[in-house]
Amino acid sequence: MNTIDKFNSHVMQSYGRYPLVMEEGSGRRCKDENGMEYIDFGSGIGTNSLGYCDEKWADAVCAQVRTLQHSSNYYYTAVQADFADRLCNASGYKSVFFCNSGAEANECAIKVARKYSFDKYGKGRHTIITLVNSFHGRTIATLSATGQDVFHNYFFPFVEGFVNVAANDIDDLKAKLEDKTVCAVMLEYIQGEGGVRALDQEFVDAVYELCAAKDILVIADEVQTGVGRTGKFLAGDCFGKKADITTLAKGIAGGLPMGACLVNEKCSGVLTAGTHGSTFGGNPIACAGGLAVLDRVESEGFLDEVCKKGEFIRSELAKCSEVEALSGIGLMVGITLKNKDAHDVAQKALERGLLVLTAKEKVRLLPPLTISYDELKDGLKILIEILEE
Ligand SMILES: *Cc1c(COP(=O)(O)O)cnc(C)c1O
Repeated sequence: MNTIDKFNSHVMQSYGRYPLVMEEGSGRRCKDENGMEYIDFGSGIGTNSLGYCDEKWADAVCAQVRTLQHSSNYYYTAVQADFADRLCNASGYKSVFFCNSGAEANECAIKVARKYSFDKYGKGRHTIITLVNSFHGRTIATLSATGQDVFHNYFFPFVEGFVNVAANDIDDLKAKLEDKTVCAVMLEYIQGEGGVRALDQEFVDAVYELCAAKDILVIADEVQTGVGRTGKFLAGDCFGKKADITTLAKGIAGGLPMGACLVNEKCSGVLTAGTHGSTFGGNPIACAGGLAVLDRVESEGFLDEVCKKGEFIRSELAKCSEVEALSGIGLMVGITLKNKDAHDVAQKALERGLLVLTAKEKVRLLPPLTISYDELKDGLKILIEILEE
């Protein structure tokens, strides 16, 4: 039986997959089982931040595998301590809770926000405002938080206490903040799954100002935008803002399952012994991978290069007649097309050796942060050819 048939007979059919069996990767290219090579402009949805099997990352991960693969959180490990220390320093946060995915990082953020409010104000102040068109994950609570009706089917009842505000609508925000039960506003600075849409600076300013006045926490879901994707360590830095709580996952450990919920001083004491946990959270192997990512992302000039490569992609695509508009920041790029369908473009790109993503009606690019100009040129040549056909 071939891989696809075997796969489909036993793996639940919860994804629409391309009929392609990925076999290996090196640098920013990967190969399928037939030996066809692809330039990767998707990096496993922004996750393989250093590309495939980066040497230093692989060495660090393998060394950890051979030393201590897991210990549970009953004990301390030096590698988790190192990663927490480095991550908090890099991001400017006081403390971190480690988990294994974006949804879990957001679950933690929701719990921190609700308990912060409970500890200080008592019962009833539990509502979290999220934005229309947001995406926060697939667990029941994070689905409830997700502001897209398409996700609110089948799995009733959803979790109470989430209210949506239209992104960039300050009046709507003001009106909904009148509700005395609100404890937090949760946002993506650049909505990723929702179509690579950056929030307006004015709206972000209003969120912070209005929340500060009422001791309402701001939660930044940086699962997709964090750890260098935008050319800053956090997308919040592009807006000159620091949320009370920031969540990370996707690119944080270079392709290993890792999520982090970072909190400022004010929220650092909220989770006390027994209030939250994760068996795999802070796993030593994932932490070793995360340290290797930080080594690279914090190296001299790295983030400036991410910005420049983002500009290069934008300047090349701007010359293409089929491109209607470009969105996003740094190496997070949304491409609005004039006439073509984004999914058709992604399918054709695949056939010609280029992996791209889509988000809503747009083509979405999330290349590895380490991609070279030659690889960008090769990939863009394929993409632009398809767009101009
Ligand atoms: C991908 C994503 C999530 C969910 O992350 P998982 O690791 O799939 O749970 C949450 N928020 C944002 C902004 C994301 O892009």
